Amino acid sequence: MSALPESSSILSFEDARHVVEEQAAGLTPRGKESIDLLHAFGRVLAESLIADRDFPPFPRATRDGYAVRSADLKQVPASLNVIGEIKAGILPKDLPVKLNCGEAAAIMTGAPVPPGADSVVMVEYTASAGNRVEITRGVNSGENVVPAGAEARRGDVLLQPGIRLDAAAIAVAASIGKTKPEVYLRPQVAVLSTGDEVVDIHRQPGANQIRNSNSYSLAAQIIAAGADPELLRVAPDEPTRLKELILQGLQSDLLLLTGGVSMGKYDLVEQVLAEIKAEFFFTGAQIQPGRPIVFGRVAKKCFFGLPGNPISTMVTFELFARPVIEARGGMTARKLVFVHARLKSEVKTKTGLKRFLPAILSGEFEKAEVELVRWQGSGDIAATARANCYLVIPPDHDRIAAGEWVPVLMR
Ligand code: AMP
Ligand code: MG
Repeated sequence: MSALPESSSILSFEDARHVVEEQAAGLTPRGKESIDLLHAFGRVLAESLIADRDFPPFPRATRDGYAVRSADLKQVPASLNVIGEIKAGILPKDLPVKLNCGEAAAIMTGAPVPPGADSVVMVEYTASAGNRVEITRGVNSGENVVPAGAEARRGDVLLQPGIRLDAAAIAVAASIGKTKPEVYLRPQVAVLSTGDEVVDIHRQPGANQIRNSNSYSLAAQIIAAGADPELLRVAPDEPTRLKELILQGLQSDLLLLTGGVSMGKYDLVEQVLAEIKAEFFFTGAQIQPGRPIVFGRVAKKCFFGLPGNPISTMVTFELFARPVIEARGGMTARKLVFVHARLKSEVKTKTGLKRFLPAILSGEFEKAEVELVRWQGSGDIAATARANCYLVIPPDHDRIAAGEWVPVLMR
């Protein structure tokens, strides 16, 4: 008959997360490809980005004003002889050969500071008079100048493989002329929703049915994690067909199941996985929502059995599935980070589980505050969609007073 996992192991949130991180550490990407920089946003860098020249390539003025010798401004006001104007993009041949004692050159932000000058005095502290300039404030040597090579030397590694290309990283690639960076291939993640009551969103649900929202929220989360979702057909609560679809899903890099992992008579996912010789790393975590989450592997393929309640599915994806997908996508591992905000109104709950409850983070400037949304539990999709984060409540708290600092998981 049925072969359930030999021993169920329900871990604390932290232990479950460590198990996931350990498994993720053993994963490597599928391969690499080169893509146009314009399409590289969000992809994971698969090569080092190396400075092809010094940055900046010349001593760069960071202010509009006058290039000067700081020694000439020991006493101010001072009057200097203006020997020329240097704008950004000036050719080396048009630069003054050297700035001598008592001389200044008008200069613009981004222009090269000429030999002899060691600083730039801001235009605000100057008054031009014919070919002379009156300067009312002194400068330190080096002020308002970035020396050549100060940011990076030619040959320096600017960015290592394994980072997700955000706007700043794209700017780095552009600045070294990397028109087609090498990135890791996106992992393929199969999504298998289960349940006799669940119907495809293209069909009109019967009175006893609900639309399959989990496959779509998971697809969105998978894309956000840097992978490509593959939606399988909804599996009925029937072992033969469920097994067929699980085997199909295991062809992908990772299989995410939703539903069918609770204690109900028709929660068959663990039983079917055990029949195909799955190894279970854990079969539950002390969290809410999402307590029945299952993590394991069949041969070398990892799977997650995520609880079917839509918010449980979303929360357990963020907490546990995301690091595995990111690792397979080549991303360097990172810890889960929480921001902190002041609780707007008192929260009462039961102890025993670490809770991740839909909440709204708001406030102005440094005054972040957070408040739970009213919801009807972990099936309440619309309430969760109006939230923008999860308020984290430790398992040993049954009450948190308004005004306390609390951890928040962004989503
Ligand atoms: P289960 O984990 O299978 O016991 O399902 C828990 C709850 O989540 C039930 O109310 C299901 O109807 C609901 N549910 C399960 N799968 C889905 C899905 N794919 N989309 C939306 N709701 C679902
Ligand atoms: Mg079910």
